[in-house]
Amino acid sequence: MLNVVLFGPPGAGKGTQSERLIEKYGLVHLSTGDVFRANIKGETELGTLAKSYMDKGQLVPDEVTINMLRSEVLKHPESKGFIFDGFPRTNAQATALDNFLSELNTTIRVMLALEVEENELMQRLLKRAEVSGRADDANPEIIKNRIAVYNNETAPVKSFYQAQNKFVSIDGIGSIDDITARLFSAIDAI
Ligand code: ADP
Repeated sequence: MLNVVLFGPPGAGKGTQSERLIEKYGLVHLSTGDVFRANIKGETELGTLAKSYMDKGQLVPDEVTINMLRSEVLKHPESKGFIFDGFPRTNAQATALDNFLSELNTTIRVMLALEVEENELMQRLLKRAEVSGRADDANPEIIKNRIAVYNNETAPVKSFYQAQNKFVSIDGIGSIDDITARLFSAIDAI
């Protein structure tokens, strides 16, 4: 299986690039943010809980997120592999992911980390708010909080994959096509 963690701060382009990767490599796209938003829309219990964190730009608690992600993975036993988008966002999530992939006799092959500087992220997210309708994109204070949470809790997850020699940094500035080409060549090199 080809299991890829597509990593990066909010607004780095994970969702956009995931679409390109699943098309080329025939993978299943698992975006924790998308699953939470679908639950909010469906007014489930999980959605109500997730919304209370997402609206403030905070992380949904690990236990909830890990259980949700695990059940999403188990829905696709025949998959050629997964793109994990927005997961893992903490070291506890990274450890849990390794554990349950090993139960399935598979593993993460690579973490591709899109690197984009903070001013650019803020501009992109405010622009996305105009079309996404996402409350967490519309407010600069909430965006700042999401970036701070990324720096404090999520960026350290890079070291987890560096220690396993699975970390690849990708320049996330440029045209969407240029960045897709960088991701394709990183995957084709592994
Ligand atoms: P972005 O990458 O632009 O922040 P996402 O859709 O990935 O957008 O995430 C939106 C929100 O969903 C996050 O701010 C957080 O509240 C919640 N979320 C998504 N993934 C996770 C995760 N792995 N752990 C905890 N919370 C998460």
